Amino acid sequence: MSQPLATDRVLEVNNIEVVYNKAVQALRGLSLAVPRGQIVALLGSNGAGKSTTLKAVSGLLALENGELESGAVMFKGRSTAAFAPQELVRQGLSHVMEGRRVFEDLTVEENLVAASYALTGRGRTAKPDFDLVYGYFPRLHERRKGLAGYLSGGEQQMLAIGRALIAEPDLMLLDEPSLGLSPKLTEDIFGIIARINAERGTSMLLVEQNATVALAVAHAGYIMENGRIVIDGSAERLANDPDVREFYLGMGGGGEARSFKNIKHYKRRKRWLS
Ligand code: ATP
Repeated sequence: MSQPLATDRVLEVNNIEVVYNKAVQALRGLSLAVPRGQIVALLGSNGAGKSTTLKAVSGLLALENGELESGAVMFKGRSTAAFAPQELVRQGLSHVMEGRRVFEDLTVEENLVAASYALTGRGRTAKPDFDLVYGYFPRLHERRKGLAGYLSGGEQQMLAIGRALIAEPDLMLLDEPSLGLSPKLTEDIFGIIARINAERGTSMLLVEQNATVALAVAHAGYIMENGRIVIDGSAERLANDPDVREFYLGMGGGGEARSFKNIKHYKRRKRWLS
């Protein structure tokens, strides 16, 4: 991938190492960048370290007894090390966590109000811009007086994204928006993600196991294994790379994603055999 100038990057993650419980090493010298205004997909199989990467960026590791042992996370050119997670939200960094975290006992609108409380002190008007959210998610407008707990899975995902959107972030971290959703709903939600990016210029770091849908909306992508990046490039290049297609998009007749390392080993072996 051609490297953009550092100032063009809303997010830079430089060589980070993350350990949980002082014992489990989840990230091993991981680096990536999100150019301003772009959607970057972070792909890889279960346990590769995708969610951990997002938590390292938004400052949520401590909640799970995780620690950023070395390396740096730079958001809009500044190290995030000195800032608490809520301060990063005020600076324009929103994290939509895996599993559609919403307050089930509050209405849709109350969920949006609660999300906007995190913005106190950002020098903005007191009234949250509900219309911004309802414009992208008309279904939430219809359900605004209903309890979030009664929403369908797709509607809860919309609300989780809406809660992030109300902060009008510069960078959204999205953790598996397709999880548990039908192909149709997944397509709808990814369409809205692409619109938010195109219309508002919101940069996004998008974690997905469904590489096909993620690469369809992303500008660029990284593939992780065992806490490291193993391949990166433009979304188009990744989507057309025969190895990526075979091993991550399940298009080589192999079904489940296998290890990228194995392909390299296989290729070396093949060279050696021929
Ligand atoms: P998934 O798609 O399954 O969420 P992932 O790529 O997001 O996978 P992570 O959840 O970041 O992967 O996990 C990376 C590694 O860190 C795994 O080995 C996992 O077991 C470990 N891990 C994640 N969270 C914790 C935690 N809270 N405590 C201890 N180990 C953890």
